[in-house]
Amino acid sequence: MKYDTVLLKGDEDGINRAAKLLAEGELVAIPTETVYGLAANALNREAVRRIFESKGRPQDNPLIVHISDIRELKPLVEDIPENAVKLAQKYWPGPLTMIFRRSSLVPEEVSAGLDTVAIRMPSHPVAREIISRAGVPLAAPSANRSGSPSPTTAAHVMEDMMGRIPAVVDGGESSVGVESTVLDLTRDEPRLLRPGGITPEQIRAVTGSLVIDKAVTGKLEEGAVAASPGMKYKHYAPKARVILVKGSADAFTSFVNSQKGEGVAAMCFDGEEKGLSVPFVTYGKRADSAEQAHRVFDALRRLDEIEAKLVYCACPEPEGIGLAVYNRLLRSAGFEVINLDE
Ligand code: AMP
Ligand code: MG
Repeated sequence: MKYDTVLLKGDEDGINRAAKLLAEGELVAIPTETVYGLAANALNREAVRRIFESKGRPQDNPLIVHISDIRELKPLVEDIPENAVKLAQKYWPGPLTMIFRRSSLVPEEVSAGLDTVAIRMPSHPVAREIISRAGVPLAAPSANRSGSPSPTTAAHVMEDMMGRIPAVVDGGESSVGVESTVLDLTRDEPRLLRPGGITPEQIRAVTGSLVIDKAVTGKLEEGAVAASPGMKYKHYAPKARVILVKGSADAFTSFVNSQKGEGVAAMCFDGEEKGLSVPFVTYGKRADSAEQAHRVFDALRRLDEIEAKLVYCACPEPEGIGLAVYNRLLRSAGFEVINLDE
């Protein structure tokens, strides 16, 4: 192990130490309202390269640049479309990432060679303060090993990154629990590349129109170019094989019980575990998408703790923020879905 990773508190001292490390070109995992981010100075190529290395992240998967003040946006982009101004007024700071044309200030390492750049202003007060004190925009993907469920607590980050980075700042549980919405504003019409904490309805309320990229609910065909490179991989996955199961609570219970065997487990909604004869984890009530988002990644990590080998996961309703939960679980499942209603 290269580093003796320190766990810093999200207080004055912790924030100052994190900002200093970042300004010196080091990597620090920081809390945000979506998930924990693995941050580096976005303007320092070498630091950005180390993000990919320490996560084992594919080189073609670009990073999101985090800012703490709207004045930091202009130098990073070629132009600011009117929709971006309106969306920023309404949803920044918050879980919305917007794609702009990249200015020459942003190293191509950040954008994995694309001529665009993804930018977000987080609302978590500790994240805001760290960015502001570091004095530079921070490139940050989720602070997990590539492929694993995203971290929503400092303990999750330690599980994945201990020894690989100098420091983790503890800012409590991420309130939203899934990554930001990614919205491309560089085309004729706004295009949703990744669903997240800001819903399609909330975007349409501002822009009028919105195209949902096929990759949001579907699998990319062999050889096709991904608009959002990160969405093409199997991702967010525990060690177990996960299969998503559509159907009512009763249908789910009888189906899962009929599959009972060594290593078989269930991931189900709160209150629907009664009657299950296999080990299970729960991730919020069926009708509460926000709670599911808040808990989904922790639930996926707990499946490893109970040593599940094959997991049947009750499929969430893909509405509102539930679309983000569905999108992540589809990828955890490598797009394996069973429909009990058919
Ligand atoms: P993560 O940082 O792990 O939450 O992933 C960031 C997501 O944003 C990935 O799905 C990326 O593919 C996407 N992303 C980042 N920059 C761009 C960009 N310039 N164009 C399209 N998608 C992007
Ligand atoms: Mg990620």
